[in-house]
Amino acid sequence: ARSTVPAVPAPSAGAGLPARSGGEIRISCVSKSFGALKVLDDVNLALRPGSVTAVIGQSGSGKSTLLRAINHLERVDEGFIAIDGDLIGYRQDGETLYELKEKDILARRVDVGMVFQNFNLFPHLTAIENIIEAPVTVRGVGRAQALAEARELLARVGLAEKADAYPRQLSGGQQQRVAIARALALRPKVLLFDEPTSALDPELVGEVLDVIKELARSGVTLVIVTHEIAFAREVADQVVFMEDGRILEQGPPARVLAEPDHPRTREFLAKVL
Ligand code: ADP
Ligand code: MG
Repeated sequence: ARSTVPAVPAPSAGAGLPARSGGEIRISCVSKSFGALKVLDDVNLALRPGSVTAVIGQSGSGKSTLLRAINHLERVDEGFIAIDGDLIGYRQDGETLYELKEKDILARRVDVGMVFQNFNLFPHLTAIENIIEAPVTVRGVGRAQALAEARELLARVGLAEKADAYPRQLSGGQQQRVAIARALALRPKVLLFDEPTSALDPELVGEVLDVIKELARSGVTLVIVTHEIAFAREVADQVVFMEDGRILEQGPPARVLAEPDHPRTREFLAKVL
């Protein structure tokens, strides 16, 4: 029997989440193969609005593919992904049951920001130009307003002074903070981070994690693929452990990271801790 759509747990009383609309994600029965390799295998996951989910697991376990599927950068073979109840894909047994048009997919993608390991800033644009590019071209925001918002975002990530710097003039940690400000400029309901600190020198990791920590309190739904276990323990509401395209274990960090049920989770943690 197919698993059913997981219910999204209500925020626990006193969780103190700021009120905001949207940002709920449900991933149900999602599978995806590259040729003979099944990289997502019946993945079920529910993220409530404003929650923080840390995804851990070995290289090749399907973490990036899962993020890309949420953002509809990767088309899944089966199952569905819903953002605030809007299906962004649904196929079953090879037969398409529901699909969005390309323009609707693009519209949904505006709600879901993504931050990559290697920052992916436009090298020929300054920090502030990087930030206003999408609001101006995708959302049709006027240039003056986009610039004012970008200045606020730069201040929020501690880079008010770096508006006119080019990426090559910034450290890796600063570039990643610009990339986060750029993602925020589209006012996403959901932000996906794919190993945001893995490319950074150790001394620059903290400044990026601090910015993400601040976002965790802002009401945006966050999904963070990370090997920073201490950070996950401190910031995440739930931790998801993936192996071979499957979610082997998920739950509150206090349980998954301290008393994992699954022997594979224990082995993985013993390696990275
Ligand atoms: P992770 O992020 O956990 O390291 P990925 O989601 O990047 O894992 O990859 C999962 C598996 O899928 C890996 O074995 C990887 O080599 C494979 N894979 C990822 N993208 C592609 C692709 N475009 N074509 C073929 N194989 C891919
Ligand atoms: Mg990856």
